[in-house]
Amino acid sequence: AVTSGEPLNDSERDFEGALRPQSLNEFVGQHKVVSQLGLLLKAAEMDSRTPDHILLSGPPGLGKTTLAMIVAHESGRSLRMSSGPAISHAGDLAALLSSLVPGEVLFIDEIHRMARSAEEMLYLAMEDFRIDIMVGKGVGASSIPLDLPPFTLVGATTRTGLLASPLRDRFGFTAHLEFYEVEELKTVLSRSAQLLSINIPDSALLEIARRSRGTPRIANRLLRRVRDYMTVHSSEDAAHAVELALALYDVDERGLDRLDRSVLSALVERFNGGPVGVNSLAISIGEESETIEATVEPFLIREGLMSRTHRGRIATSQGWAHLGLTPPSINP
Ligand code: ADP
Repeated sequence: AVTSGEPLNDSERDFEGALRPQSLNEFVGQHKVVSQLGLLLKAAEMDSRTPDHILLSGPPGLGKTTLAMIVAHESGRSLRMSSGPAISHAGDLAALLSSLVPGEVLFIDEIHRMARSAEEMLYLAMEDFRIDIMVGKGVGASSIPLDLPPFTLVGATTRTGLLASPLRDRFGFTAHLEFYEVEELKTVLSRSAQLLSINIPDSALLEIARRSRGTPRIANRLLRRVRDYMTVHSSEDAAHAVELALALYDVDERGLDRLDRSVLSALVERFNGGPVGVNSLAISIGEESETIEATVEPFLIREGLMSRTHRGRIATSQGWAHLGLTPPSINP
């Protein structure tokens, strides 16, 4: 699993855990978000209250979970982790909320995938630290109010637009994480190489950084693949190892992975460069449109290979060129 959208296995989770920055100071890049969060935490501490609810959005692997952990760590609170898909009805959320320790930070990843009934329960919980539990059914049904301990919700989503506005509005602080610059990824990689005692020259780290889709998770994974390659082949030639390991995992010279390329090729070859709706694009390659929208599209757009118009997605001339093709001219 080199791409960010694929689930992590245990060893990858341990590996990620080992590399996670513990404090805002160690967190590379996203300077504005980091300063804003720092201020929010400081203010809450000075007023002796729980920090405001925080909504983090952005493609997978950019540091949303890490920031939730840092919020808990820096404010000296414990962290509870859950995810939207694990909350499939209101009862799941009621159980979770009523078991929180006062002041705890509750992280809900993929919060846009939570059940609708739970989402409604969450409104009141976020606002008043209170929920109404429904008991019984039909005419005999009644609701029992339950006070909750104060908590800070940190929600993560790929796009804030996926959230109903009443939920979005209840977060005191909303931040969007952007893809990282190559230099920032290189800093992430230097730190990781040091933590993992990998001896690798700066030039090789720079090359990995360039090919990591602007994503720290991918940068760290590629570093691990390169290290594996060097170990298995008892190679000291890092530059060579980077080339071969990345080729082996289908990462091209611009950092596109197999899924990125299949979306771009479908757009160019099957839809003649578009415009095409994201659903048709997803169906044509047998992928979920959510994955395309959350993971592939933001990256291709940022790379200037694809763009979004009101009529659908189109390949840019750079997009055509990346596949070694020339766009048909509009005025022959
Ligand atoms: P998300 O929750 O957005 O999918 P994570 O927080 O799980 O992403 O981050 C994935 C990995 O990338 C983690 O192992 C973390 O160590 C690393 N990482 C993410 N952001 C940063 C950062 N700003 N600085 C250093 N490492 C980072």
